[in-house]
Amino acid sequence: MTGVVIVGAGQGGYQTAASLRELGHPGRITLISAEDVLPYERPPLSKAYLKGTADETQLWLRPVTYYVRRSIDLVGGTVTGIDPAARTVRLSDGSGYGYDHLVLATGARPRTLDLPGAGPRGIQGGALRGVHTLRTAQDAAALRASLAAARHAVVVGAGFIGLEFAAVARGFGCEVTVVEARSRPLARAVSVRTAEHFTRLHERAGTRLLFGQGVAGLHGDRRGAVTAVELADGRRLPADLVLIGVGVTPRTELAAAAGLPVGDDGITVDSRLLTGDPYISAIGDCAAFPQVRSGNRRRLESVQNAVGHARLVAERLTGTPRAYDELPWFWSDQFSTSLQIAGVDEGHDAEVVLGEDPEGFSVLLFRGKNLRAVESVNRPVDHLIARQLLRKEVELNPEEAAAEGFSFASLLP
Ligand SMILES: Cc1cc2nc3c(=O)[nH]c(=O)nc-3n(C[C@H](O)[C@H](O)[C@H](O)COP(=O)(O)OP(=O)(O)OC[C@H]3O[C@@H](n4cnc5c(N)ncnc54)[C@H](O)[C@@H]3O)c2cc1C
Repeated sequence: MTGVVIVGAGQGGYQTAASLRELGHPGRITLISAEDVLPYERPPLSKAYLKGTADETQLWLRPVTYYVRRSIDLVGGTVTGIDPAARTVRLSDGSGYGYDHLVLATGARPRTLDLPGAGPRGIQGGALRGVHTLRTAQDAAALRASLAAARHAVVVGAGFIGLEFAAVARGFGCEVTVVEARSRPLARAVSVRTAEHFTRLHERAGTRLLFGQGVAGLHGDRRGAVTAVELADGRRLPADLVLIGVGVTPRTELAAAAGLPVGDDGITVDSRLLTGDPYISAIGDCAAFPQVRSGNRRRLESVQNAVGHARLVAERLTGTPRAYDELPWFWSDQFSTSLQIAGVDEGHDAEVVLGEDPEGFSVLLFRGKNLRAVESVNRPVDHLIARQLLRKEVELNPEEAAAEGFSFASLLP
C-alpha cells in the first residue's frame, strides 16, 4: 500500500488522513479539498460562529503545521473524474493523482427550492440577495453578514439547521418566522414529544412557527434583494433575510460517473464501507451503509458518523478490517437547551419519558421490546448511559422503564 487519495477534506476526509497517520500508514496521503480553507468543523457554523463567539480560525480541525508534520498533502481543487481501471483521479485544473486506495468523502450539498428567486436552480436563475443556504464556512460568513443588518428573517424548513439559526437570529433581536411543510419541527429526526418541546422553546422566544405550510415564491425589489416570502395560501411574510434549510442531497456524481453503485440517497457501500470497487471506499454524509440492527441501507448526517466511518476505513487500510457497527449519536444546541440523541429511531411503537422537569427529560423509544433510541433534553448523564446501554444492547422493555422507582443508571453493568 503506498498512496491513499481522499476526495473531500471535511470532517470525514480529515479524519481519514489523521487516523491513517495515527495508525502508522507509511505511504502518501493526498487530501483534496474543493474549499479554499483548512479543514474545519461545520457544527459551529449554525451556533458559535453565527453568534460571533468563534472566528474562522477556531473552526479549523487542525492548524496547517499538523498536516506538514505528518506529511499529509493538502491539495486545493475539485476532482472531476475517476478512472477506476487506471486508478487515477482528475482535477478541474487538469492535474491528476494515482491511488492505491481512493476514499470518497464528498459530503452533501443543501437542497434549494425550485421557486423564483430561491436559488441557483430557481426558475428566474440565481438567488435574490439575502437568500441563503448553510453548509460551508463561506455560506456562514455571508449569512452572518446578512444577519447583522436583518430585521425580518424567514426560515424555510424546521430542521436542525433552520432551528439553530432561528435561535441565534432571535438573540440578535430579529423577528423570525419558521415555515415548515410538515406538522411539526425536526419531523425526520425526533419524537413528537421532543418536537413539541422545541416548538414551545422557540415560541417562548418570540419566534412564529407555521406548520403544514408550503412556500409559493420569493419576492425581491428592483435591486435584487429579497423583500418577502409568499406562502402557498397566498399570505406574504416580509423578509430581508431568508434561510432555506430543507435538507441536503449527497454528492454522488463522481461515484455515479465512475460506474459505482449509487442509490436514491447516497453512494452504496457495504458494511466495510467499500463501494462496488475494492479500491474505493465512501464515507460520511455521502455514503448509504447498512444499519447494524435493521439492515436498512441509509445515510446519516453527523460528526460521529463521519468520524466513525473514517476510523474504520483507516483501520482497514492499515490491516485491521471490520464491519461498521458503531452506535450513532447526535447533538444540537438551541438557546441554552442541549438535545442529544443516542441510536437511530427507524420507527418506534412505545415511548417512556424519564424526568419530571419540563426543561430536562429523556424520551426512551422502543420497537417491540427493544430500546432503539434515546432523546435527552438537558440530561447529559442520561445520554451517556443511553450510549452504553444501546451499544451493549442491554435488555429493557417499556413496562420496566415506566415502572415506579425505575433507575436508568442501575442498568449499567
Ligand atoms: C451548519 C451545520 C451544522 C451542523 N451541526 C451538527 C451538529 O451539531 N452535530 C452533528 O453531529 N453534526 C452536525 N452537522 C453535520 C456534520 O457537520 C456533517 O455530518 C459532517 O460534516 C459530514 O462530514 P463529511 O466529511 O461527510 O462531509 P463534509 O464535512 O460536508 O465534507 C465534504 C467535503 O468534500 C468536498 N468535496 C465534495 N466534492 C468534491 C470534489 N469533487 N472534489 C474535492 N472536494 C470535494 C466539499 O467541498 C466538502 O468540503 C452540521 C452541519 C452543518 C452544515
